[in-house]
Amino acid sequence: MSAIDSLPPLRQVIADHGLSARKSLGQNFLLDLNLTAKIARQAGNLSTSDVLEIGPGPGGLTRGLLSEGARRVLAIEKDHRCLPALQDIANAYPGRLQVIEGDALEIDPLAHLTPPIRVAANLPYNIGTELLVRWLTPPAWPPFWQSLTLMFQREVAERIVATPGSKAYGRLALLAQWRTDARIVLALPPEAFTPPPKVSSAVVHLTALDKPRFEADAAVLNRVVAAAFNQRRKMLRAALKSTAPDIEDRLRAAGIAPTDRAEQIPLEGFCALAREIARS
Ligand code: SAM
Repeated sequence: MSAIDSLPPLRQVIADHGLSARKSLGQNFLLDLNLTAKIARQAGNLSTSDVLEIGPGPGGLTRGLLSEGARRVLAIEKDHRCLPALQDIANAYPGRLQVIEGDALEIDPLAHLTPPIRVAANLPYNIGTELLVRWLTPPAWPPFWQSLTLMFQREVAERIVATPGSKAYGRLALLAQWRTDARIVLALPPEAFTPPPKVSSAVVHLTALDKPRFEADAAVLNRVVAAAFNQRRKMLRAALKSTAPDIEDRLRAAGIAPTDRAEQIPLEGFCALAREIARS
């Protein structure tokens, strides 16, 4: 295995700094620096971007991002035990790594970043979906980021790229696919992590589109999709009763049979329905 930088191997970093993994912080570390460099390469052209990393931990992916040429990395880490190890990385890459200690759900990173911005993270599983939904639903589009390269549990990754008719198809797929190109770029078995989690993982790369794939008001679309999939086994005329008094007419006008179920309807259909509901 070739070294990607002059810093010590991650196993040694973890031993030196006493970074025993904590389940409560979703800590499953990647220790293979060739693998973290490979993940970094999926994030696109880093040399012209600032990269926001959530949860650097002992710094495996951080080192991958920097050795692959990221212009700057801003890393937000909740576990203060990791800060000395991250400081060693900052010293090895002068001026290119800034670390903020704190909760990624509470910190606004934008003041510390210069566009273009890419996000790359091996996310803590307990906040991964919440962060993704926030990044996909900013007040205005295009968002602050050009791309997201994120590790998820495989089942969540599959929900992001799911197509109509599949069990995984739902709100996350529609949110992601409305305004991004989303694809799974890497699959990882539990053994790739220390300690190994119970399930497999996958890296999803999402690229922000300049504008949504189909026209629709974001709030209306969100409301319709949430209602439709809250009762996914019901026919849409029942599941969407609360969204418009004349929902059967609206469904027909959008080219959808009132007896269809949410998981049969493609993105284009939901956008047409959101436009019809906004019109009424
Ligand atoms: N990036 C490292 C790697 O790939 O080995 C660690 C990934 S580990 C799955 C998730 C990291 O997120 C941990 O270092 C954990 O301490 C951190 N973390 C957990 N909750 C967080 C939060 N709310 N805000 C910021 N970091 C958090």
